[in-house]
Amino acid sequence: MMLQKIANKFYFCAKLIFKVMEGKLYLYNTLSRTKVEFKPIKPPFVGMYVCGPTVYGDAHLGHARPAITFDLLFRTLTALGYKVRYVRNITDVGHLEHDADEGEDKIAKKARLEQLEPMEVAQYYTNRYHHAMEKLNVLPPSIEPHASGHIPEQIKFVEKILDAGYAYISEGSVYFDVEKYNQKYHYGKLSGRNIEELLETTRELDGQTEKRRSIDFALWKKAAPEHIMRWESPWSDGFPGWHMECSAMATKYLGEEFDIHGGGMDLMFPHHECEIAQSTAALGHESVHYWVHNNMITINGQKMGKSLGNFITLDEFFNGTSHKNAEGKELIEKPYSPMTIRFFILQAHYRGTLDFSNEALQSAEKGLARLMEAYARLEKLTPSATTTVDVKDLRKKCEEAILDDLNTPIVISHLFDATKAINTLADGKGTITKEDLDELRGTFKLFVEDILGLQVADNGDNGKMEAYKKAVDLLLNIRLEAKQNKDWATSDKIRNELTALGFNIKDKKDGFEWDL
Ligand SMILES: [Zn+2]
Repeated sequence: MMLQKIANKFYFCAKLIFKVMEGKLYLYNTLSRTKVEFKPIKPPFVGMYVCGPTVYGDAHLGHARPAITFDLLFRTLTALGYKVRYVRNITDVGHLEHDADEGEDKIAKKARLEQLEPMEVAQYYTNRYHHAMEKLNVLPPSIEPHASGHIPEQIKFVEKILDAGYAYISEGSVYFDVEKYNQKYHYGKLSGRNIEELLETTRELDGQTEKRRSIDFALWKKAAPEHIMRWESPWSDGFPGWHMECSAMATKYLGEEFDIHGGGMDLMFPHHECEIAQSTAALGHESVHYWVHNNMITINGQKMGKSLGNFITLDEFFNGTSHKNAEGKELIEKPYSPMTIRFFILQAHYRGTLDFSNEALQSAEKGLARLMEAYARLEKLTPSATTTVDVKDLRKKCEEAILDDLNTPIVISHLFDATKAINTLADGKGTITKEDLDELRGTFKLFVEDILGLQVADNGDNGKMEAYKKAVDLLLNIRLEAKQNKDWATSDKIRNELTALGFNIKDKKDGFEWDL
């Protein structure tokens, strides 16, 4: 199984050299609010920057959507023959509570509560994030820079903005001067916020803060004495503002101008708006050609939020363990495989809303099983002299759909049409030529595995997992019967030998519990 996994990865990497899809890619650019043809600055190279996680807690369903969306874009660009440098950052400093300029650093707070070094917290959750992403078959980015590892670059970037006259120093902190910037450029162009109105309502601050206006944002913050994450700078011992890392690191690794910047819609304002302002102020021009945003996931129609208690971590999905929501209802009825989560996300277009419910996930699970069964049956088909099923245009239709702003629901519907043909063939009710069969297999491999990133092995693994769990349950049920019959020798033998193998067995009133 492992070898197969590695072989699949190599297969995909090998294709980095060979273009496997023709045609033009169209992407919805949030900046122009239109779907436009994607033209890289320096083909065949493509630079893509995506805002990664703030590592102070376990990855949840909300993290899965941007990761899978930009993995899909990465895979599609690669299949088009582009050599993609994909940068996805790790935010391990500067992201304050409530996403504002005040409050405690999210990572430092977790470190304080758990009595750890902040970098221990960051490393722990970075490892766990990687693990969850691997399960979801999200390919690793080309570069994964950490904000804390790029403090000198961020200080230089702040200096450039100060030199250009779009920032001011106040009490050891540095703030971006939004009003001044907006006189020459357009603050709000990405999110469509009316900045005149914002400026009007935030005109005067009554001296309670260091900022001239509440709309101004921190580029550098002076650290309070109790703040443990701090670095030297020309202005104070402190730390960079949250938006600064992305401008500095994207410029460092992708240049002053690059092709694609991605992230969730929730980051559009203020994070991405501030990134545009910072880069434009420092460089004298905009950096990003295409802004791509994925929509959010709701839980049973509600926004996901810590206060609502409806956060579901990816591990909870995979293990089927979850907590109750505010109304005392269990959020997850059963475990869902990582590929079910991936398929559930890909069944919706990335710009559409997506609502989680157990029913929706269970229907995704059924759909995925149907698709994968047909894929397995496809491998076993034998060719004939003629073709009686309609599979000719499948590849073309799938290509057209994916190149049309990554329209995965349409790709999936074409694949489902093909499953009908495959089942007809497998049931002996039709025939297919060798040429058509090879084409059909190639199309399934390309779209199911390489572009949608659905792992075939996952189904097999799940099946084996189920069998293994049932086998342990069976042994423990035999032990239970032995105990009821006062056959202590058998009961002890099973318990001792399972324990020696590393199983942890707990006797309960109504049976048993075990884990490994
Ligand atoms: Zn960012």
